[in-house]
Amino acid sequence: MRREWHQLSYPGVGNPAFQTSRPSTDSAEDEALGLDRWRSLPRVQMPPWADMDEVASVCKVLDNVPSIVAPYEVDQLRVKLAEVCEGRAFLLQGGDCAETFDANTESHLLANARTLLQMAVVLTYGASMPVVKVARVAGQYTKPRSAPTDSLGLPAYRGDLINSLEPDEKARVADPQRMIRAYANSAAAMNMLRAYLSGGLADLNGLHSWNKDFVRDSAAGERYEAIAREIDRALDFIRACGMTDNEALRTVSLYCSHEALALEYDRALTRVSDRKAYGLSGHFLWVGERTRQLDHAHIDFISRIANPIGVKLGPGTSPETAIELCEKLNPDNIPGRLTLISRMGNGKVRDALPPIVEKVTATGAKVVWQCDPMHGNTHESSNGYKTRHFDRIVDEVLGYFEVHRGLGTHPGGIHIELTGEDVTECLGGAQGIEDLDLPDRYETACDPRLNTQQSLELAFLVAEMLRG
Ligand code: PEP
Ligand code: MN
Repeated sequence: MRREWHQLSYPGVGNPAFQTSRPSTDSAEDEALGLDRWRSLPRVQMPPWADMDEVASVCKVLDNVPSIVAPYEVDQLRVKLAEVCEGRAFLLQGGDCAETFDANTESHLLANARTLLQMAVVLTYGASMPVVKVARVAGQYTKPRSAPTDSLGLPAYRGDLINSLEPDEKARVADPQRMIRAYANSAAAMNMLRAYLSGGLADLNGLHSWNKDFVRDSAAGERYEAIAREIDRALDFIRACGMTDNEALRTVSLYCSHEALALEYDRALTRVSDRKAYGLSGHFLWVGERTRQLDHAHIDFISRIANPIGVKLGPGTSPETAIELCEKLNPDNIPGRLTLISRMGNGKVRDALPPIVEKVTATGAKVVWQCDPMHGNTHESSNGYKTRHFDRIVDEVLGYFEVHRGLGTHPGGIHIELTGEDVTECLGGAQGIEDLDLPDRYETACDPRLNTQQSLELAFLVAEMLRG
């Protein structure tokens, strides 16, 4: 049954910012858009929901809630990513591997956002290009797992949207009600970020001054002083020209993203606007390395929404698969629509990435090439922690730049797992974190994240790479 929906009449109707979307269950339009086709397709990493009736009743609630993001913002991000695709902008994406309900605090959200924005300042200067800023936030509550059980023999933790990290048999049962909590946390996170972003968090002078503190305090600061000083002079110049009142110096757009893994959730938050389906659980949704089978549920679902989308590509990806993904996910070849996120590992990127970039480019497919230097570089430390070494992360980004420079394609961006806190989860960096330091502050719910200092250090190194 199609639901009644009374379009609000704003004075601003016609302005895309005022376009309304509507709940979209059971409508003929949804059927025409194929939004539920995924339900009849094979699907891996399915949350082990025990009670599908409960899933359905939770989704009914989510069908009608206010969305996390708005269709015009989603379109705006696609336009910005088109600039990345055409080589005129750079994409910075980052945040927690897995958000948790407990860590969805004001201080954690602000620390992550601030770190990402500080990185963006350095990268904007290094690239001499706009940097499109996308956080892994307000929905990054699901995790694909390589085994159904963990080292204790308990059902694997699959992200706070599905079950609890607590090592307890009962807490690990997949609970559909958690989708409501994930939604509420995501809405609150976006609400707070939007408020702070327009209230000074993104002020360029403020961010640069934090960066100067980093350079002053870092053991490797000397290396980064030159760039920091150049940015100082550029800001002095801007001030001298009397451009201090410019809005662009005080606010930025920060978009939110997450992996589209629990399709029930992302589907329930999909709305139809202007005859197009928008996944309004986030601006940018990606499908991970484990769920990107061409004829399976996840790829089908994201093929039907109008959002900018991404797909992770591991070292085993054949160029033919990458081409098929482009055809399936971006049949109209819209620039900015599709981001291919390579996560090869530093030892493989120089061999595995070139044939993919070369062959995809030869087909004329328009894609954003992004490097995730995290997921191919995970190992277990001598004392049993899942970790990553800073040097391997830097080396994968370097390899990615080499590949694109060699082929004449645009190294469009990076995708990082980070936190704006002083954790000890990844090894190395100027702090020289070693295996035995890992237990000090190992707080991630899933994969190891760069801490604040390591993140900023990476930004300065990538700025150097961008300058050639
Ligand atoms: C992730 O981004 O957290 C992730 C699981 O990545 P991948 O699909 O590349 O393993
Ligand atoms: Mn991860």
